[in-house]
Amino acid sequence: MRCLVISDIHANFVALQGVLEDAQPFDEIWCIGDVVGYGPKPNECIERLRDFPLKCIAGNHDWGAIGRADLLVFHDDARQILYWTQEQLTPENLTFLSSLSTLLTHEGYWLAHGSPRDPIWEYSIDAWTALQNFLKFDFQIAFVGHTHIPVTFEWLEDSQQVKILLPDLDQVMPLEGRRLIINPGSVGQPRDGDPRASYGILDTEAQTWEARRLPYPVEETQQQMRDVDLPQRMIDRLLLGR
Ligand code: ZN
Repeated sequence: MRCLVISDIHANFVALQGVLEDAQPFDEIWCIGDVVGYGPKPNECIERLRDFPLKCIAGNHDWGAIGRADLLVFHDDARQILYWTQEQLTPENLTFLSSLSTLLTHEGYWLAHGSPRDPIWEYSIDAWTALQNFLKFDFQIAFVGHTHIPVTFEWLEDSQQVKILLPDLDQVMPLEGRRLIINPGSVGQPRDGDPRASYGILDTEAQTWEARRLPYPVEETQQQMRDVDLPQRMIDRLLLGR
């Protein structure tokens, strides 16, 4: 099976549409949370995802949008947009977000927005955090998001250490026999200094991972944000990939 693995769409419909076209063909979407928040098209993104066979888990912004997370933990701009998102969501899409679990496991693959041990909030940002999660659980491959930075952590059994691998856009990474925590990066709001949408393709038969980046018309999303008066700082940062 070819899985399109995406995370942190953040209601950026233009970026999502681009990725869905660029990633073809695929059999299923695995979405690692934060479908909404920050961006201008929450309903459109949820509805488009549901056009496909989908495994999806909740992220912290999804919880913010359905009232399950205290909005005071979000910074001012994020909180303002979450209030706006709450007003926009249709009852059907609210029900969809409310139905999402925080952790999914499937044949050795784990899906958790933050980390396997703290799926909503922990940032899998460094080797130490990754190490704690490798030691606590027995997953082969865990997909995480939340940091908006594409990166892979590999468990090295012999030395009991964690190695950090940056995405190689020119090479398909073999997965067989390895234990990895893979972050596909963010579709709708990358934060590694590269504004292109970030995602990946998992081939469960070939056991490979392919990291990809896709340029999309950022200014279209920025205009959509202006049209609904979302905060200027959030509009600006899309072009910077920060
Ligand atoms: Zn996010």
